[in-house]
Amino acid sequence: MTLPANFLIEVIYLIATVLFILALMWLNAPRTARRGVLAGEVGMILAVVGTLFEHGIIDYQWVAIALAVGAAIGIPLGLVQMTAAPQRTALSQAFGACCVTLVGSAEFYLRTPTIPRFTMSVLALEVVLGGLTFTGSLMAAGKLQEVKFIPQRPVTYRGQNIVNLTILVVAIAVAVALVRNPGHTVYYPIMVGIALVFGVMLIVPIGSADMPTVISLLNSYAGLAAAAMGFVLNSKLLIVAGALDGCSGFSLSVIMCKAMNRSFTNVMFGAFGQVQAVSKGAAEAQTVRSASAEEAAGILSAANKVVIVPGYGMAVAQAQHKVRELFDVLTKKGVNVTFGIHPVAGRMPGHMNVLLAEADIPYDRMLEMDDINSDLPQTDVALIIGANDVTNPAARTDTTSPIYGMPILDVDKARTVMVIKRSMSPGFAGIDNPLYYLDKTLMLFGDAKAFVGSIVRELVGGGGS
Ligand code: NAP
Repeated sequence: MTLPANFLIEVIYLIATVLFILALMWLNAPRTARRGVLAGEVGMILAVVGTLFEHGIIDYQWVAIALAVGAAIGIPLGLVQMTAAPQRTALSQAFGACCVTLVGSAEFYLRTPTIPRFTMSVLALEVVLGGLTFTGSLMAAGKLQEVKFIPQRPVTYRGQNIVNLTILVVAIAVAVALVRNPGHTVYYPIMVGIALVFGVMLIVPIGSADMPTVISLLNSYAGLAAAAMGFVLNSKLLIVAGALDGCSGFSLSVIMCKAMNRSFTNVMFGAFGQVQAVSKGAAEAQTVRSASAEEAAGILSAANKVVIVPGYGMAVAQAQHKVRELFDVLTKKGVNVTFGIHPVAGRMPGHMNVLLAEADIPYDRMLEMDDINSDLPQTDVALIIGANDVTNPAARTDTTSPIYGMPILDVDKARTVMVIKRSMSPGFAGIDNPLYYLDKTLMLFGDAKAFVGSIVRELVGGGGS
């Protein structure tokens, strides 16, 4: 008995759907994250293979050309530095959203004027979300990449939210008119055009400081647009994959908002991410104590318990392998070393976990903020490597601070604090850090990779025995 091709395609799609769900589940924990990525990749390959079996494909030549072009763009995109991952993600989203908008447009012109109301409604949702996500993601990527002609700072003006809301309402009104009469083809380009403009307007008032959160939110819009496309094309796989993407992007935005103490309504209405004033006064008036690698090695080797707090600077310096050497040397000396990971350390959620895992730091040594905070008062040394905002005690104490209320790693409660960074420059939030002026704090000025390397050499060479 031979199975019909349609049945085979449905089975392939079903396996792909299950793999997408498993991928998200496994991506939840560092220990299973690699398996999650693999499941997602296999799921996507199956989805593409299933689609290639579809009878609707008339000419494989164009499919082959599209695959080659996609691979030519995708491979270099996959090779960018981890620190550029937010803008890379935004670009991928822009491509996806562009694709959704184009497919929706093709369906509209093929089926008009006899499109049923439900199909026209989801089609309108698909192209409006797709269009605004396309231009919004391009803007976000441009801002993060510091592209010359795109203003990085938030551009705001009076009544901005009202203008944005009006644009959105007009787009919805045009969409409703199309649902009522899909034969009015003149409305279609107007609707798409407004969505494209709205995407730009949505991102204009946001500063680069909040862009990763916005990218995650745009990711959920792209997912919802893909789910809507699934209804238009009658594809269950697209509906499920789009819904998963939409929900996970939304959840991630909420998690990031909480970790940075931003209100979610602020994100939804766009006008956030104003430039935060750098408080220079404190930095000028107070003095800090600095130390050499030799002194740092001495203090570390005399400690019983050390907590290492990595941040964006460790990622930029690519210091994770040197940090692993430091971990090994100290552990051999009998020092209990753990890592304190803040949920938004670095430039994307999980940034530090990925880097430390790349350097083979055991997962059970990486502790989340809530777990490590209870340990910090009993810690001899908190060694901060290229982290700044996520350790700033002003978030706990200074009600005027722009990061007031953001949960932080309580490193100031450790007996001694050592901070590796190149200068007194602020971090992402652009504010001074009172931690550096505490009596218990030693500043270790230098590049993270070079400085950690020097400490390791001191420890191995006996300088810190
Ligand atoms: P941070 O506050 O941006 O500070 C990083 C520090 O690293 C800087 O003060 C810098 O000081 C230092 N640095 C840079 N290059 C270095 C090098 N080569 N060697 C040594 N130090 C170096 O980083 P963070 O503490 O990780 O905090 C993350 C920030 O990003 C937070 O404000 C968070 O809200 C924001 N954010 C994160 C996410 C996310 O998902 N992770 C999303 C949105 C926003 P010097 O210049 O003096 O060296």
